[in-house]
Amino acid sequence: MAVAEEERDKDQLIAEPSVRKLAGDMKFIEGPVWTNADGGYLVFSDIPADELKKWNQTEGLTTFRKPSHNTNGNTRDREGRLISCEHGSRHVTRTENDGTITLLAEEFEGKKLNSPNDVVVKSDGSIWFTDPTYGISKEQKELPGQYVYRLDPETKTLTALVKDFAQPNGLCFSPDEKLLYIADSDKLHHIRVFEVTWQGTLENGRVFCVVDKGVPDGIRCDKRGNIWSSAGDGAQIFSPDGKLITRIAVPESPANLCFGGDDGKTLFITARSSLYAIRSNVAGAKRP
Ligand code: MG
Repeated sequence: MAVAEEERDKDQLIAEPSVRKLAGDMKFIEGPVWTNADGGYLVFSDIPADELKKWNQTEGLTTFRKPSHNTNGNTRDREGRLISCEHGSRHVTRTENDGTITLLAEEFEGKKLNSPNDVVVKSDGSIWFTDPTYGISKEQKELPGQYVYRLDPETKTLTALVKDFAQPNGLCFSPDEKLLYIADSDKLHHIRVFEVTWQGTLENGRVFCVVDKGVPDGIRCDKRGNIWSSAGDGAQIFSPDGKLITRIAVPESPANLCFGGDDGKTLFITARSSLYAIRSNVAGAKRP
């Protein structure tokens, strides 16, 4: 791609020359999710600090919940309730509006989940999450593999959809929810894409793109169907046909990102010890 063309594509997607640091001095942050409730705020995990953090424009950084059972990925369901993956307890949970915590998933076929990592909710309310081994030791592992699951929050039925990932991690739906993208953070460091059937299964999986430097961890889709992935040197944006459009440099290695702000056009990036943000020209596919 010619330099001028690349710059133009970048201008169409990114509205600021560089990321801004919003907060620092944390341990290892992950799982950002925005809500427009209560004036709008971000919740994210500091995994080793065993803490859910909160950030908003007026108060800056505060504690949302501690201890957090080492939460990792977070999302919001259709009612705006927080859905969290917990490394410490190896659970997927929902935080109710009154603050109580409901256990949604803890085992599959009688064996403890590995360490649920990241999670998304489809518009029908079903909860889709990945279960790599990053939060447990070899001795603690009970399941034979690292699966991608769909959870029915009413019946709490868990279905393993894909079983051949090395370390399934971030995941996101296309704007029409006909496709599900799933990152594999292991040696292949690629993102795969699957067709979502009406029964809620996945088929025709293929490699969508390979992420370098580093590995893809958290991923998000924008309204135009572009995929925004964390990578070793920042964020990378891929077109719907899997071509790298541009990169956003970040001073620390991002583990995850999400769209937020009242118009959905602020990209928040959790990167090791610090939270960063950059304005984009396109909103996230999923409005909070
Ligand atoms: Mg992750």
